[in-house]
Amino acid sequence: MAEVILKNVRKVFDRDVVAVDDANIEIKDQEFVVLVGPSGCGKSTTLRMVAGLEEVTSGEIYIEGKLVNDIPPKDRDIAMVFQNYALYPHMTVYQNMAFGLKLRKYPKEEIDDRVREAADILGIQELLERKPKALSGGQRQRVAVGRAIVRKPKVFLFDEPLSNLDAKLRVQMRTEISKLHTRLEATMIYVTHDQTEAMTMGDRIVVMKDGRIQQNDTPLHLYNHPANQFVAGFIGSPSMNFIEGRLAVDGDGLRFDEGKISLPLPQQMKGPLAGHADQEITLGIRPEDIHDPDTMGRGVDTITIEAQVEVVEPMGNEVFLYLTTGKSTFVARVDPIHVPEVGQPVNLAVEIGKAHFFDKDTQESLLGSQ
Ligand code: ATP
Repeated sequence: MAEVILKNVRKVFDRDVVAVDDANIEIKDQEFVVLVGPSGCGKSTTLRMVAGLEEVTSGEIYIEGKLVNDIPPKDRDIAMVFQNYALYPHMTVYQNMAFGLKLRKYPKEEIDDRVREAADILGIQELLERKPKALSGGQRQRVAVGRAIVRKPKVFLFDEPLSNLDAKLRVQMRTEISKLHTRLEATMIYVTHDQTEAMTMGDRIVVMKDGRIQQNDTPLHLYNHPANQFVAGFIGSPSMNFIEGRLAVDGDGLRFDEGKISLPLPQQMKGPLAGHADQEITLGIRPEDIHDPDTMGRGVDTITIEAQVEVVEPMGNEVFLYLTTGKSTFVARVDPIHVPEVGQPVNLAVEIGKAHFFDKDTQESLLGSQ
């Protein structure tokens, strides 16, 4: 069982740069876990500690139940795929893929079997005699993955492997890596700053910020129940809209723009918000929870807001509207039925039952993340 466990893992560089602070993560056998967060949040350092490329400052890392803190990378039974592919330029694709096995003194026939099997899986049989410079970015990426596959490791580690590819190829390789995960039945840990990659690939997502884990959950649970404002804003595109306001004294509704805008609260939210009456809070509404009222089915709890259209971005299957109402600006992601003109006032239906509420100071969700 190739499970990976991080217990109270901390990494400090140069005495005072805390790259990772008290990380606790349990990755199950055959799970695909994505570490995601903005640049500098500590995700690569976390991965490199699992690989053994960085020492942990304190805490423990276990692979298959075995403490690996003092075990060198080559003995951890992991394979890592890097962003820059790290291929040897003077070697052919075949030699690049065979290299790790040769170092480990595998018999020639076994090396040949493994390289050809990996080439088959990745569809690069025709490229085996080429050198890396004669390959496209996507082909190089496949070779880098192939080099990991031939090792048949217990755990695959990916550090932003798709960053250097163009958008279309990135989507294609994303699917290929997901398929590979199913086919190889391996444990995979994948680092990215791209929330779409995280959402589409991960069985579970660990969101990090400033070296600390913000939330560790399934993609849909993260999306529907973000633990705090950072996670809420990071997951989803375009990002969730945040509007600051004050809960009414009676806890019945929200007031914005010095009370000029008033929103009633749905029944199910009054309980959790009751303790926050008369407090400043941040309301979060996802762009996809704002609709053209004409497209709304019956029975959905909505409130109508009037807004001014500032920018219209037609995406084909949907339209992004950048809007203002009072002092607030927000984005709506609506069906392309009645596309309004810039400057036009519009009425929009907000699904208030899907709204999120955050403490203005701690930024924690007032509805909890369960
Ligand atoms: P990116 O997406 O930009 O790679 P990241 O989330 O992977 O970012 P890390 O590379 O893990 O972040 O870095 C976390 C923090 O640790 C950053 O503040 C970084 O500057 C610092 N750091 C990383 N490696 C070193 C190092 N070798 N020496 C000193 N500080 C480092």
